[in-house]
Amino acid sequence: MPDFTEVAERVWVARYEWFDVNVTLVGSDRGLLVVDTHGSSAAALEVVDDLRRLGAGEVTAIVNTHWHFDHTFGNEAFRAAYGALPIVAHETAAEELERGAEEIRQRYADEPADPHTADVLATEVVLPDRTFSSALVLDAGDRLVELVHPGRGHTGGDLVVRVPDADVVLAGDLVEESAPPWFGADSWPMDWPLTLDVVLGLTTPASVVVPGHGAPVDRAFVEEQRNTIGVVAETIRDLAGRGVPLDQALDTGEWPWPRERMGDAVRRGYEQLPRSQKRLPLI
Ligand SMILES: [Zn+2]
Repeated sequence: MPDFTEVAERVWVARYEWFDVNVTLVGSDRGLLVVDTHGSSAAALEVVDDLRRLGAGEVTAIVNTHWHFDHTFGNEAFRAAYGALPIVAHETAAEELERGAEEIRQRYADEPADPHTADVLATEVVLPDRTFSSALVLDAGDRLVELVHPGRGHTGGDLVVRVPDADVVLAGDLVEESAPPWFGADSWPMDWPLTLDVVLGLTTPASVVVPGHGAPVDRAFVEEQRNTIGVVAETIRDLAGRGVPLDQALDTGEWPWPRERMGDAVRRGYEQLPRSQKRLPLI
């Protein structure tokens, strides 16, 4: 039973073993904002239990940092527990969840031995119903909560939550602490370093940055991760610029993280570099 820990004034984080994912609460005199809802209705019900044990009040709104199911599939359970809560996300995240949810359900349907399969398949996916394109300020009464889309990175629709009075930034999976950042088939590796520059611009040397997975970090950690993701992007750019074909790029490059994690990063990077691809014979 994870406990919510107060990492800054009226900002609590609980870290769950399945996916080592964080769920964060932002308190205000208009209730609690829950940021990310875990990966199934059953998993979210555990979160609701932990939240009630904390005794900090009722949830009045949901934010999804991006579409991935370990951050969104608990939406239904929060609505069941607290009523018709608004669910706020970036407009692209809402579209991506609508497109991607069935694939996730299929992935679990194909893995009946996974202990979470029944829970995932029993979950009704509830899409965000309040979306924005660049930035949104939520007036929570005695504090303002800023939602910012800093650009594409881990997905096409990541947002970060900034609570200025507490100097906290909730970074979603643009930052990971307990594993390397995840470059999936929906990632934007060439944009990601610049996106993190925007995130860094929202921080101070004293900021607490809550990653999507793992322990809270500071600005220096984010700077270092930004630079390492920058190495990935520069390596892809270099390989493409030297004319290394896509099917040799992964083996040719030197990567800061295990090669087997970098396949989608290379594929996505090549797709995003206009001069890298489709070197068709001229005759
Ligand atoms: Zn993710």
